[in-house]
Amino acid sequence: MPRRFDVAVVGSGPAGAACALRLARFGFAVALIDERAFPRPKLCGEYLNLGAVRELGELGLGDLLDATGSPLNGMRLFAHGEVADFAFSSSAYSVSREILDERIRAEALASGAQAIAGRLQSVARSDFGVETTVLQPSGEILEISTRYLVGADGMRSTVARLCDLSAPVADGRFAIGGHYEGLALSHWIEMYASGNGYIALNPLTDESANAVFVLSREHLMRARKDLGDELTRFSVAVTDGSRRVENERLQGKRNSIGPISVRTSQPAAKNVLLVGDAAAFVDPFTGQGVYLALSGARRAAAAISRALHHAAEERVAWREYAADIRSAVMERKRLAAMVKMLVTFGFAARRAAAALRRRPADFVPLIEAVCGNRPAPGRPELALTIARALR
Ligand SMILES: Cc1cc2nc3c(=O)[nH]c(=O)nc-3n(C[C@H](O)[C@H](O)[C@H](O)COP(=O)(O)OP(=O)(O)OC[C@H]3O[C@@H](n4cnc5c(N)ncnc54)[C@H](O)[C@@H]3O)c2cc1C
Repeated sequence: MPRRFDVAVVGSGPAGAACALRLARFGFAVALIDERAFPRPKLCGEYLNLGAVRELGELGLGDLLDATGSPLNGMRLFAHGEVADFAFSSSAYSVSREILDERIRAEALASGAQAIAGRLQSVARSDFGVETTVLQPSGEILEISTRYLVGADGMRSTVARLCDLSAPVADGRFAIGGHYEGLALSHWIEMYASGNGYIALNPLTDESANAVFVLSREHLMRARKDLGDELTRFSVAVTDGSRRVENERLQGKRNSIGPISVRTSQPAAKNVLLVGDAAAFVDPFTGQGVYLALSGARRAAAAISRALHHAAEERVAWREYAADIRSAVMERKRLAAMVKMLVTFGFAARRAAAALRRRPADFVPLIEAVCGNRPAPGRPELALTIARALR
């Protein structure tokens, strides 16, 4: 006999765990499925922008930031020999993903969600809703029957693939990251951009920092033999010698992921919603992912709750969810594309840095939007900001 739930959430990262937490608090029977054993590391810059901080506070998890996070006062961006400081209007945080993801998941389980260890293998529609099978670590197949299925299983979502919601993958860049000691960053994130990729350094504690290297496939292939030393060389080259991320200072293992460019055709289909990276992936350079995961989870839980209470409203709830996700993602993508444009081209970086020094107030709305502290300016205002930056 299959096990029955109102909702099965596949993936226990921030998107899935926050969605399960909200649904369990509403009183629904929720399965939270993940193939990994928790706590587990996750390759990420581990920076939580102000939008993510707000979402965690709304979930009642703000204490996590004081207890285990490191407050961040701003971001220092290095590109083409220029340096630009962006101070945050209030503290953003860095938190190890091992701790963050485990805490949201633990809260979901404490609220009544049931953890199921295993890998989602199949999805089929039924009169009840959705029938799924999960391959458990013991090798047994568990059948789960659920009214609604949430795909929160990350950028290579199995749910999206099995439900025909994936679109072709463009060949993107690769990311490698780990925790290093001795980088002394004092509550500022440092981002170093170059034509060959970028490095993000994010202080986690007084002793350790997260370093993420984003490189092209070619660069990675060249580095395969002595990856650690190549990353050190890359750090020296990209930072013009001001930072040297020593392989010997690595704490624990490195994680890697790639290519980091994926697409999903739409975030909603009959009885199925996608959330977080499974729904849409934004270039990680501006650190929007956890914010989008948590805010998407809030929207998904609201749509599912509405549909579970009034089955007739499912279509409209799904349509509104899809429209909300699309506009939230487009907004974040627009911001990320603009920042990327300003740091990729030497002339743009130099002009923007000079404009920022002369007229910092012009950039406040943009900086606040990138930090998730206010909605992004509309296209005309963004175009004006670019024009001012390049003047
Ligand atoms: C290089 C890089 C740096 C980044 N830096 C930042 C940053 O500094 N700040 C920020 O906000 N965002 C950052 N991001 C983005 C951020 O990491 C993601 O947006 C975020 O993790 C999305 O959360 P999620 O819950 O959607 O997916 P994930 O965190 O990826 O969780 C998905 C879960 O699904 C599980 N799963 C997958 N497939 C299956 C299956 N078939 N069956 C069962 N379980 C499955 C996985 O085990 C995993 O636990 C970065 C991303 C990259 C690539």
